[in-house]
Amino acid sequence: MPHGFQYLRGRLHAESAPLEKIAHRFGTPCYVYSRAVIEHNFKRFDQAFGRYPHMVCYAVKACSNLSILRLLARQGAGFDIVSGGELYRVLKAGGKPAQIVFSGVGKTAEEIDTALHSGILKFNVESEGELDILAQRAARLKKRARVALRVNPDVATETHPYISTGLHEHKFGVEMKVAERLYHKAASMKGIEAAGVSCHIGSQLLDFAPLLEALDRLLALALRLKEAGLPIRYLDIGGGLGVPYRSGDQRPDPAAYVKHILAKVEGAGLEVIVEPGRSIVAESGVLLTRVIYRKTNGSKHFVIVDGAMNDLIRPALYQAYHRILPIKQVNEREATITADLVGPVCETGDFLAKGRSIPVVEPGDLLAFATAGAYGSVLGSNYNARPRAAEVLVEGSRAKLIRKRETLADLIRNET
Ligand SMILES: *Cc1c(COP(=O)(O)O)cnc(C)c1O
Repeated sequence: MPHGFQYLRGRLHAESAPLEKIAHRFGTPCYVYSRAVIEHNFKRFDQAFGRYPHMVCYAVKACSNLSILRLLARQGAGFDIVSGGELYRVLKAGGKPAQIVFSGVGKTAEEIDTALHSGILKFNVESEGELDILAQRAARLKKRARVALRVNPDVATETHPYISTGLHEHKFGVEMKVAERLYHKAASMKGIEAAGVSCHIGSQLLDFAPLLEALDRLLALALRLKEAGLPIRYLDIGGGLGVPYRSGDQRPDPAAYVKHILAKVEGAGLEVIVEPGRSIVAESGVLLTRVIYRKTNGSKHFVIVDGAMNDLIRPALYQAYHRILPIKQVNEREATITADLVGPVCETGDFLAKGRSIPVVEPGDLLAFATAGAYGSVLGSNYNARPRAAEVLVEGSRAKLIRKRETLADLIRNET
């Protein structure tokens, strides 16, 4: 793992760029990403496959900044998209249509048409209704749509209920039993090529076991379908690999995961597709904030920072934990307080961290919230009429603005 964020001469740096300087130049709150970490994580997946036919399709929804998509496209990444908007972004960033897979439960006819015109690799279809619409649109446009049904392998995962997707009670995918019937229907449809199988069972999985169990079930399905004469070529096992948010969490190694995958698929004659999002970008980013005030209510300490739930909603939405990195390195004997770190938004749910022991900070001090590269900036909103944060990409000692902080004029641009 390259050093994305580390203390040099007592100050926190992104690669070799001091975060103090970045805050001074671009303001706070601000997302800061390390290019080396993103490239390293992508390569861990990609290189582990060696010569085995594969495609690493980065899940765009984890962090969709154009510059980040562009640097992944240059590394040879494919992309997993879930909307016409993400397709637009990927194409703008130089992603190749032949390396795009389109997932999602609610693709509209308009989005399907655009994707067919662009010539994407395949659609991961999530219902019979979608299959029917896709066949209609493809026939009308005289195109052939390569299809994988997203099946629900009914594997339980130990993750937060909001990011678990692989059980029959979730809205995603179709049941295995239903899938076999739908595949035979798909095979007979003009305009449809039953080209693969797919699944995605959840996110932030720190253990390979459920992923590999889903793979077993998916592989068995693919082999049955192949035997029945369907032109199945792609085995798409989705994303879901987790990252350590707390110190002490395990760090599942993508290369080790891929080794397990290869051991199972060797000889099956299928191209493997993975769709990692979080495991590529989470550890590449921090949310950099500045302390505005400190206050106490009774015995309770609050540190009020200029970043809020509209910038990073994960703590409020998933009870997510982000480590706090003070910009000035803490020495052992320093006094600490136990505090909630909250933002300026008018909601009790507006917190970035609760009950944390941190060094005594003063207004003006900088704090970084770690592991914020995935599902951070993309979930940003303008709630409380707060302009969205800037985004900065660091390469070595160079810091580049990759998304300007929104202005007040941006806030009302589309309103009358
Ligand atoms: C969200 C999503 C992913 C990426 O999941 P991560 O946990 O971020 O790796 C991959 N595939 C699909 C279909 C998704 O919805």
